[in-house]
Amino acid sequence: MTQTAATTLSIRNPRTGQPDYELPVHDAEQVAAAARALREAQPAWQDGGLPARLAAVAAFAEAIQARREALVAALTADTGRHRESVMEVDAIVATLRRWINDAPVLLADAPPRQSQIPHILIEERKRPYPVAGVISPWNFPLILSLIDAVPALVAGCAVLIKPSEVTSRFVPVLEQVIAAVPGLPAVLRFVTGAGATGEAVVRNSDVLCFTGSVRTGRRVGELAAQHFIPCHLELGGKDAAIVCADADIELAVRALTFGSMVNAGQTCMSIERCYVHRSIHDRFAAALADSVGRLRHCHPGLDDGELGPIIAAIQAPIVQRHLEDAYIKGARALTGGRLLKLGGGDWLEPTVLVDARHDMAIVSEETFAAVLPVMPFDDEDEAIRLANDTSYGLSGCVFSRDVERARRIASRLNAGAISINDAALTGMVHDAPKQSFGYSGLGGSRMGKPSLQRFYRMQAFLINTGEASPWWFGH
Ligand code: NAD
Repeated sequence: MTQTAATTLSIRNPRTGQPDYELPVHDAEQVAAAARALREAQPAWQDGGLPARLAAVAAFAEAIQARREALVAALTADTGRHRESVMEVDAIVATLRRWINDAPVLLADAPPRQSQIPHILIEERKRPYPVAGVISPWNFPLILSLIDAVPALVAGCAVLIKPSEVTSRFVPVLEQVIAAVPGLPAVLRFVTGAGATGEAVVRNSDVLCFTGSVRTGRRVGELAAQHFIPCHLELGGKDAAIVCADADIELAVRALTFGSMVNAGQTCMSIERCYVHRSIHDRFAAALADSVGRLRHCHPGLDDGELGPIIAAIQAPIVQRHLEDAYIKGARALTGGRLLKLGGGDWLEPTVLVDARHDMAIVSEETFAAVLPVMPFDDEDEAIRLANDTSYGLSGCVFSRDVERARRIASRLNAGAISINDAALTGMVHDAPKQSFGYSGLGGSRMGKPSLQRFYRMQAFLINTGEASPWWFGH
């Protein structure tokens, strides 16, 4: 965004707890001006054709690769963790390449065809929305800013992105990357700021992709409805794992250690509840606690361990409240269990809980931290009932050596993606279409080929090939 912001916001560093970044805050007028400029540039982007757009997308991937270290450093400063910052940059390059591969077939116009009315010819066109707005959260700042922006650009939209105010240090670096790609700066812009900037993005977009909390998603959905634009919401989750009696325990432990602890549990598709058949519950919980307990904080060095700090300051009191509520109601930590201050930042010990129940906030609300409550079940019906006892429905997972049994359970779970004999695969596998169930979201699939459909409208040309239509008036 070339305009100088009217004000700034002091941003806290998650590793030190101290403010060390002044975030430019773009006001409603500046957001409107950015959207106007995008709207003016979009027809040339659309009319330039798909090959030219894909060439720009390929150059974007190259430019990201060329600035990989700088982007990783900025994302690491934003989030306090390094490993996942590398994953973010590499994953977005893979996303760009996937769309370059898939788009030509997906965006090709269907051949003209005769209507059911013989003298009418139908031609189909895909007309991109002029400006796609993207609003993203702080847990994966780069991926979640670009995951919708890339297919929108490919479809022919111009894109306006507002990342989370908590993690926007990567924006100036990414803007330099974008500036190196001919044609791209005119159709891909960032604005920064908090909620008011986000609301201005909704008001100035023609289609909106939002990733964040249910609370904000509801507000964004209401605004989008007032503004009469389609709105795709990707919201929170409380993903459940079901571990059947015949599961490969070692495999399930390894997968769930990753699926619940990656990014220190600050992942929308993080496994936040684990139901285990009573016959193996104690053995499984002990093995999981042993595995999780071996994880280390990335402190004092960035690469010292596997788990970063709690990124957003507002999260630490939520985690504290959930833990206290759980302990008061009888839960026990088999490993971890305490919030720590290290170097000024907030860190949660990697935690496995037992004796947890559904009346505990740690089981019923999104905790978004490195903690996994483990609970027993007696039969398949009970496991499914417990897993579905939530207002969310993002994803989940099932472990069983009998894949048919796992499929049967998966088909009764109210969630958009179920990993079988693995966990949290939606974070890694972006080419499987899925939608969010319940309060976890609304709108089209972000993942897989249908993702592209969110960014254009179908337009029909209905061509009379020369005859008088029978419904015309008689004279
Ligand atoms: P949040 O809702 O607080 O903020 C998300 C974004 O919305 C930020 O950019 C914020 O500035 C902006 N915003 C705030 N108020 C706004 C308003 N009134 N109008 C427009 N925009 C506004 O969420 P967060 O705390 O940044 O992110 C964590 C949440 O995101 C968790 O609930 C997590 O589960 C969810 N999440 C979901 C997915 C998914 O794919 N489903 C992925 C990652 C994170």
